[in-house]
Amino acid sequence: MRYRKSISLVGVIFSSFLFFFINFKTNAASALAAWLVTSDGTLKLRTTPNIELEAYYQSGYGQKGDRVWIDFPGELSQPRKLSGNGPIREIRLGKPYKGNTRLVVEFDPRVSLNPSKLRLLGTSSDSWELRFDGLNSTGLKSIGEGILLKSSRDQTIQKSSLGLQITSLKNFQSSSLPTVQRGRFFIVLDPGHGGPDSGAVGINGLRETDVVLDISKTVERYLGAKGVKVLMTRSVEKDVTLNERVVMANKSNADAFVSIHANATRGFRTDVSGIESYFFTGFYGKKLAAKIQDELLYVSPGSPDRGVRQSRFFVIRKTNMPAALIEVGFLTGKYDSKFLAQESHRTKVAFAIAKGILNYLRESY
Ligand SMILES: [Zn+2]
Repeated sequence: MRYRKSISLVGVIFSSFLFFFINFKTNAASALAAWLVTSDGTLKLRTTPNIELEAYYQSGYGQKGDRVWIDFPGELSQPRKLSGNGPIREIRLGKPYKGNTRLVVEFDPRVSLNPSKLRLLGTSSDSWELRFDGLNSTGLKSIGEGILLKSSRDQTIQKSSLGLQITSLKNFQSSSLPTVQRGRFFIVLDPGHGGPDSGAVGINGLRETDVVLDISKTVERYLGAKGVKVLMTRSVEKDVTLNERVVMANKSNADAFVSIHANATRGFRTDVSGIESYFFTGFYGKKLAAKIQDELLYVSPGSPDRGVRQSRFFVIRKTNMPAALIEVGFLTGKYDSKFLAQESHRTKVAFAIAKGILNYLRESY
């Protein structure tokens, strides 16, 4: 089911000012002063004047709907979630990293936005509009916080003063992954650490166990969507010994084993970032690691390529199928940790790992 509607902007602008005088608390540091999604499907924002914003779109997959988010300079004081209604599932305000505010609009999985029509427009020095084309006209009640205009004198909308702002379009739908024969392949995914073993702990307390479990579950969903069977050595926060992981994998008779980790420097060197993929032995293990490394680099621009390397890590040495161990970045690195803390980046990393595995399967069988 798709939501469709043609939107009339006339009247929307002024009705929004009347209805939203809710007490809106933000940290003074956040440039976001007020926001509103109108019942006609337009997101309106008031910010501190003359700032630059970035808006993003990500298509949904599985149970996740399409998402649109906007990053603002300045840090939000109270991260929070607001339930949506109609075509909007939820609205979240968060700080994906220090000194930043993010407003996320998550849609119902049945909604299909047209990303090429998403534009964030500056309508005056401190106000913005983003129209969600393709929303159902029925069932959306406006949602917002704060007062969009400070005084009635501001009601003269100065169109075109800022013009278009960028909208980055990212497509990480499972439909854009390479296709393999459905039901033919079987992969073991091994999220490193777990339970009392948190693995590495990085900047802002970012924990390896959380990061790699989240990524692994998304890889599992991507592969599942392509008809690849997946065994997870763990899918919750629990302790699994290295030997148990290996035994599980070797009993499974899977086609490949991929262990997912995030890195740390011993001396907590924040200047070290980068992507590494390991194999222990054999042409296929090396190929598997190399295919994943290629895709990881593609979604991690700016993070150094630390190479495809040979190592004697227990889980890739003792498993009896082609095996790779992936380090998706440094939790202790200033550059990598900022990204790994963001759910949107972890989704890209998961997409990259799934794509690398699928490319490997396509070329090896
Ligand atoms: Zn690890």
